[in-house]
Amino acid sequence: MLENDLKFLEESFKQYYFDHFDLIHVPERSQEREYGYKKFNSGMIRHISLKTDKDLHLMLMTNLPSDVFCSNGYYSFPNLPMAEKDWKEADLIFDIDAKDLNLSCRKDHTCMKCSSCAEISSIHDTCPKCKSNKLDLISLPCQNCISGVKKEILNLMKILTDDLQIDSESIRTTFSGNEGFHVYVSNSSYNQLGSNERRDLIDYIKFQSAIPERFGFNKKNDPSRSSFPDLGDPGWSGRVAKELFGSKSKRSKVITKVIADGKVAYQQKLEAMKDSIGVKIDSNVTSDIHRIFRLEGSLNSKSSLVKLVCEDIEKFNPYTEACLIDDQPVEISVNSPIKFRLKNTNFGPYSDEKISVPKYAAAYMICKGLASIPNA
Ligand SMILES: [Zn+2]
Ligand SMILES: [Zn+2]
Repeated sequence: MLENDLKFLEESFKQYYFDHFDLIHVPERSQEREYGYKKFNSGMIRHISLKTDKDLHLMLMTNLPSDVFCSNGYYSFPNLPMAEKDWKEADLIFDIDAKDLNLSCRKDHTCMKCSSCAEISSIHDTCPKCKSNKLDLISLPCQNCISGVKKEILNLMKILTDDLQIDSESIRTTFSGNEGFHVYVSNSSYNQLGSNERRDLIDYIKFQSAIPERFGFNKKNDPSRSSFPDLGDPGWSGRVAKELFGSKSKRSKVITKVIADGKVAYQQKLEAMKDSIGVKIDSNVTSDIHRIFRLEGSLNSKSSLVKLVCEDIEKFNPYTEACLIDDQPVEISVNSPIKFRLKNTNFGPYSDEKISVPKYAAAYMICKGLASIPNA
């Protein structure tokens, strides 16, 4: 990152933390957690122990981090190297990200930045200026992306509360600050699960490895019509029935066809359902019991938006509620072929312009790599 941009972001982030200490707290059982942070232009520093909000605020003010993290795991000795920490348990966390949903809107709000010459362009195979093929994709997710993720979150919630019997009081949903949401399950009986057991849970939630025997066919390959799922069944049986039959009146006709097509075809049909009705959680995140997650209330340096708890997921709008940097005017050089909306204001598109925008929009575009603070 260029010197001017680095200075601007460090100052903006520091100001945000100074103004919003009320939003940033150490979580419960802080002394058992591992913390970590990154600075702009440098790698991760981990294995930090913080006891109180005061320790955390001091860390933010002295180190000016770009990103702050806290473990889902609880340890006897959180500041020792991983092998010596003595793991006790870990909250169960799910990550759902817009980039994993393959939505058709994505191409409309994605551009490319050449890592050789920094040219910003629409999607090409090579850089239109220097012909390099080292290109980074930059996406400014839209409301449709956010709605898509919310839909997945609501499906996940249903499985957690209905199928896995998790008390909704133990579930907390947060906006990650960029393109996704994290769902936290704390203080549940699932905290003790290791990585392998969490992987079984992931298969269940994503509807992976479903077998025909579970949904109507028996081992001897002579399916009985009554063993096929029903629309009112609990758990995956009901969801498969809805997907397979559409409505109660079509059930009988579809079963006849499924039986005629045979077990292998049915197996393929069930496998394809992971894309339509499986919940699109990131497996690597949920199976990791030693991971550090962005801290609630902290800024995400990929966007300058805040990681925030969503009290009402359906109404939550990250582009107004999580955009908390102030609106002092800032002069930037910007080249953004994508338009976006923050705090109910439209911005862009801009083609190689020098303009003045509110600080929150400047920080957003600089974090995304689309703008820079010009030399004085
Ligand atoms: Zn180039
Ligand atoms: Zn979109």
